[in-house]
Amino acid sequence: MNSRLIVVSNRLPVSITEQDGSVCVERSSGGLVTALQPVMNKSGGAWIGWPGSEVSAEVLHALNRNGDGNYRLIPVSLSREEVAEYYSGCSNATLWPLFHGFPSRCRFEPSFWETYQQVNEHFADAVRAIATPRDLVWVHDYHLMTVASALRDSECRLKLGYFHHIPFPEPETFGKLPWRKEILQSLLHFNVVGFQTIHDRRNFLASVKRYLPKGVVLRRIGSSFLVSAAGTHTVVGAFPISVDFDQFDECSPEDMNQVRDLRRQLPAQKIFLGVDRLDYTKGIIERLSAFEVMLKQQPEFRGLVHFIQVVVPSREEVKSYSDLREKIERCVSRIDGEFGKVGWVPITYLHRQLSPAELRSFYRAADVAVVTPLRDGMNLVAKEFCASRDDERGVLILSEFAGAADELSLGALLTNPYDVVQTAEVMKLALKMPEGECMRRMRSMREQVKTHDVWRWSSAFRKTCADSAPLHLFEPALRDLAIRSELQLSAD
Ligand code: UDP
Repeated sequence: MNSRLIVVSNRLPVSITEQDGSVCVERSSGGLVTALQPVMNKSGGAWIGWPGSEVSAEVLHALNRNGDGNYRLIPVSLSREEVAEYYSGCSNATLWPLFHGFPSRCRFEPSFWETYQQVNEHFADAVRAIATPRDLVWVHDYHLMTVASALRDSECRLKLGYFHHIPFPEPETFGKLPWRKEILQSLLHFNVVGFQTIHDRRNFLASVKRYLPKGVVLRRIGSSFLVSAAGTHTVVGAFPISVDFDQFDECSPEDMNQVRDLRRQLPAQKIFLGVDRLDYTKGIIERLSAFEVMLKQQPEFRGLVHFIQVVVPSREEVKSYSDLREKIERCVSRIDGEFGKVGWVPITYLHRQLSPAELRSFYRAADVAVVTPLRDGMNLVAKEFCASRDDERGVLILSEFAGAADELSLGALLTNPYDVVQTAEVMKLALKMPEGECMRRMRSMREQVKTHDVWRWSSAFRKTCADSAPLHLFEPALRDLAIRSELQLSAD
């Protein structure tokens, strides 16, 4: 566990944009950065990623200035064509929709795959330039699934771990991918492959079994599996990602002032809150439609409830995302126009990234958090809401298709986000929930998040990597252990 940590992800924790010849540095959005930044601040090491712009001398200077001090930021340079084909193409127009269960949104362009592998080679080169066999190289997410095979081509004996932040689909859906075999084979070049949930791990193993049937040996080891195939040995496990509980639990006097300000601006109104990156998987339109159904069915709630929907700008250079933004804005203005009156509108819509302090105040001021993605790897917003509620108040409405539902189902009100009538009913239930029940539910969710925080996630993954033997040591061990075993999917 004392090895130096080298994190590799598509984006660095900061993104660079160049405006009017000057370089702007912003925090990158999304759960990956929220989870990994505290880990890197504590452990130190290096973070390899694309800065979101070309890598000029000014950009390097800006990255050096903005590093947290405890770890280095190492930019990977990508050409405009590579960004178009690897990032906007293969990552966002093929893998993202497919892995979230939207195959009809996928574009399967052979050139995307060529460029994807080429860019993964660039990331592998960046790793090769700094890593030693004593380091742990921890690669993150679906953009970089072939980094290990690119490295192993050069006989590299580095410890390589991979964590998959998004869902892994059923084998029928995954099987639509023209490069399914190559991706599975590439993932099996990592020493450890981690998923968010047991369900994702099961889908991955079922895909391995179906699409790589020859010579694959699967063996259960504790709560994980060892997959051996064509000379590679990979531990495959479920490691639910989480948040730094204390960072959200602690509340400064300034935070409390912000909470009071927010509540003062919405007197005698119950506040519903949605916080999402702009994405069709987040179910924003469906959620606002459910709120609309509730306002239609319960006219007495008008004037007494208020929905704050925060949408963090994301991927707006991709047309389907800018279209989604317009669709959300039309939906908000339709609902505000139809139900609003002088002195009250049902929805406040914020299209920007809030600071961590602002976000904490929103979590604390809300009566009901509505986290209803159509599909989500985990969803950290749900966990952050619970961690922020040291008053043990607040109701969480949670999609049954979010990874977080596995851990929070005892405290949250679960809903099928596609069923807007059911979600409207659940919103009504949330408003009417007796205080005692609300506190009991919140207490159980907080306990779960507190005991399963980001430190537990990172140390469980890193320990599994540390314990996984270097490749050459696996061989004799396997000779004793290996039993060609059928996957006991139901035994999970
Ligand atoms: N977030 C933020 N500012 C905002 C909205 C969201 O910093 O205005 C953060 C939020 O704290 C959370 C992350 O963005 O950690 C979103 O993570 P999640 O797992 O919910 O979804 P993802 O964006 O990774 O799909």
